[in-house]
Amino acid sequence: MTTLYPVSVQCAVCGQRSNQTGIGSSNQMGAPDLDLRPPEMLRSTLPHWVQECPHCGYVAPSLEEVSESESQVVRSAPYRTLHEDPSLPPYARRFLLRAMILEDGAGDLPEAAEETLHAAWAAEDANRPDLAAGLRRDAVALYRAGPAVNTDIALRIVDMLRRAGDFDGAGQQADELAGHDLDEAMAEVLAFQQKLIAAHDDRRYTIGSALPPPAARPHVTHRGKAGRPRKPFGRREGPPPPAAGPEPGAGGFLARLRRLFGGGR
Ligand SMILES: [Zn+2]
Repeated sequence: MTTLYPVSVQCAVCGQRSNQTGIGSSNQMGAPDLDLRPPEMLRSTLPHWVQECPHCGYVAPSLEEVSESESQVVRSAPYRTLHEDPSLPPYARRFLLRAMILEDGAGDLPEAAEETLHAAWAAEDANRPDLAAGLRRDAVALYRAGPAVNTDIALRIVDMLRRAGDFDGAGQQADELAGHDLDEAMAEVLAFQQKLIAAHDDRRYTIGSALPPPAARPHVTHRGKAGRPRKPFGRREGPPPPAAGPEPGAGGFLARLRRLFGGGR
């Protein structure tokens, strides 16, 4: 179950205190979506992944920390304009504010892309599918404007473009990715994506729908085709795979995904 708790936080930008909600613990049942949005119950904690200062509008995972350049973004006219935008669902707006801080204040385009994807999830929860589609395209643009993406991110970009209804773009990204040496589970997810793209299907699916049941996968291994350690799927950085030990099979793949998201945000 999810445990939320109230916490009083002093904002590092304006110095004022406010009451925020912390996530003590949460759990995940089942597989994440193909873009790695986690399953319940962690899924529903999305509104609490970043805090917003009610006094100055600063948004961060913890309001108690800020750099000088980030503080300048919070005081800038574009930030104030976005902060006052009444057309955006509240939590989508909040993630977009965080994305602006990361892009303009920290120069971290991949993290800005992640927060923009979170904004898309929040837009979807607010029944704004058109906005969600646009935000997914924005997230892809931010990823592509940053450092070269690895195959894990590229596979998620396929899903972001497909969910945004850009089937041509998703197909091109999938074709490019097919030329790489992918491990078995990633190759299966990619093949599943290619079927969805061909069918012009922009609906949400989980990784569980892309992978056959474990019983049909007796030879799945935890390593890449050439025996290299398998890269974490979906995060630029993650825990290294085990160096030795029994092959965990498909359950290991999903278990590792859960570990990537373990303990909430
Ligand atoms: Zn503040």
